[in-house]
Amino acid sequence: MQNDTIAAIATPQGVGGVGVIRVSGGESFQLVAPLLRRPGKESIPSIPPTHHLTYRVITDPQTQEVLDEVLVAFMRAPHTYTCEDVVEIQGHGGPLILRRILRAVLRQGARLANPGEFTLRSFLNGRLDLAQAEAVMDLIGSQTEAGQRLAMQQLRGKLSEQVQQARTSMLGAIARIEASIDFPEDDVPTPLAEELQPFIIEARQQVDKLLAGSDQGRLYRQGVRTAIIGRPNVGKSSLLNALLRMERAIVTPIAGTTRDTVEEIANLRGVPLHLIDTAGMTPTEDPVERIGVERSRAAAENADIILHVFDGSVPLAEHDWQVLEELRGMGYGKQGARPVIAVLNKSDCEQVITPATLAELWPGAPVVATSTLVETGLEELENTLAELVQAGSVMSNESVLITSARHQEALRRGEGILRPR
Ligand code: GDP
Ligand code: ZN
Repeated sequence: MQNDTIAAIATPQGVGGVGVIRVSGGESFQLVAPLLRRPGKESIPSIPPTHHLTYRVITDPQTQEVLDEVLVAFMRAPHTYTCEDVVEIQGHGGPLILRRILRAVLRQGARLANPGEFTLRSFLNGRLDLAQAEAVMDLIGSQTEAGQRLAMQQLRGKLSEQVQQARTSMLGAIARIEASIDFPEDDVPTPLAEELQPFIIEARQQVDKLLAGSDQGRLYRQGVRTAIIGRPNVGKSSLLNALLRMERAIVTPIAGTTRDTVEEIANLRGVPLHLIDTAGMTPTEDPVERIGVERSRAAAENADIILHVFDGSVPLAEHDWQVLEELRGMGYGKQGARPVIAVLNKSDCEQVITPATLAELWPGAPVVATSTLVETGLEELENTLAELVQAGSVMSNESVLITSARHQEALRRGEGILRPR
């Protein structure tokens, strides 16, 4: 059923200036052409030259009612997104208009496309390889410019190219082995290990190079989950807002968040920083509050970095200790474990807690004094976060190509096989 003709609205739901309906498959030209008229003319259906944008009105074939004025492009295979004949109809971007146009196209005999089916076809037709098809989703979903650049590189085949190089090296070794098996009498000797080694080493170096940047690459794509934790009233929500206000921050609200935990995305030098503001973490009898506590605990457990916030203007409270114990219980702050930054907030007020006190509570953790009120220390907090995020992987951006966990996993497996034993 691969070559039936599929159609779908290609632009997002909702109202926009223009909306696009995409039709792909062997029948797409014949299905769409009868719906189109030159404005003001009783013209017979005709197919405009390929890859040209043409002005037409689109009509309901049964009632002859004009549905919309459109720009339409007929694009002959194979130079199209799917490598099949494609028609793109640009109408006005109202959801009702687009649905009516789509319905007319479907009534002509097209089938409604499944999600991702256009991209699937480009993959199946060989225009995109799997890494490139995956990059389409990454490109659409990218949250920072750096992430977008990486997805674009992958889409343009840069990753596939490097993997191909490793493969070519391996084929060099395989060809020698197979030749000696296939032609044992024709004096093709069994290759010596020393002869095969250079090919294998070359392949391994390729794989290592890709793996080297992969932790960093995943950060650009997935971001860093940073939970802002602390007892009530120390300034967690204020800190979240202050970090988001900084000029580099792009603010993306995430749907489905509640009052209990709020998640926003800030842009930390290209790495999406998922900031999670939590409610308290202390056990409570109140069933409603308990949900908030559970969510906070889950946020803390799943975080990559914890910002443990204290109020410097008042003595440590019992509640601060409870939070501390809870975080320690989750393994934060231990050597080699996930990092904590101790934030001493309200530094604009007279201080009764010193940074040294916090350094004792969290040995080895960076301590940053901040004031969200007069906006001091925020830059330093950002620098500290950036250092932690980049720790151990100081890479130039060019060496970062791997952004997906699946690719990283596959490369690790390959690396294991290529390693000398
Ligand atoms: P949360 O409960 O930890 O989320 O704390 P909030 O962000 O809601 O802040 C609690 C109170 O502390 C609010 O009245 C804030 O205006 C105040 N606050 C937060 N940060 C600062 C600060 O840096 N300096 C001062 N003086 N007040 C602050
Ligand atoms: Zn709050």
